Amino acid sequence: MQITGYKSHGVAAAVALVNAVTSEGGDDSDDALRTLLRECGFFWHQFEPDQAAAFREWGGTLRPFFEATDLETAVSLLNELLLRIPMHPHLADHDDPVGLHMHYAPPSADLAHRFRATTLMNLSELVCRHGLSRTGVCAAEDCDRVYADTSRAGRRRFCSEACANRTNVAAFRARQRDAP
Ligand SMILES: [Zn+2]
Repeated sequence: MQITGYKSHGVAAAVALVNAVTSEGGDDSDDALRTLLRECGFFWHQFEPDQAAAFREWGGTLRPFFEATDLETAVSLLNELLLRIPMHPHLADHDDPVGLHMHYAPPSADLAHRFRATTLMNLSELVCRHGLSRTGVCAAEDCDRVYADTSRAGRRRFCSEACANRTNVAAFRARQRDAP
């Protein structure tokens, strides 16, 4: 079961942005950022090229959270950001399939600020609920992409099926080679 609604949108958006900005082969062009915003349910048509730098900066800012290996480090990072990003929670119900939901940034905030507030709150909620067991850097050997797992099972360790399969095949071949 997926966690539905804005929760998974913000978490998925954080993952997509960190990968676009910081991973090898990531695409953080204006067009790629626009696509990312559209796919994650943000008001992508409000994106202006002069906001791109703010999005790229935020992607770099969030990466250490996914790289954190102990909860204390992750929590202090999130707390530092929660102090830095102005919040003004309110309920919103605009014409979209989500229905009534929380907005965290002040109503007058621009898209980049709203994106920061939403991704930060959603990652914080995920950590309150699951600690660091749902986020990390892909376990495949040659991959630096990050992932977040909002499924019920929560056993994900790879950024994609492709990385999971590649790693499993390599492990299988290694076992066969080492077999007597
Ligand atoms: Zn990967």
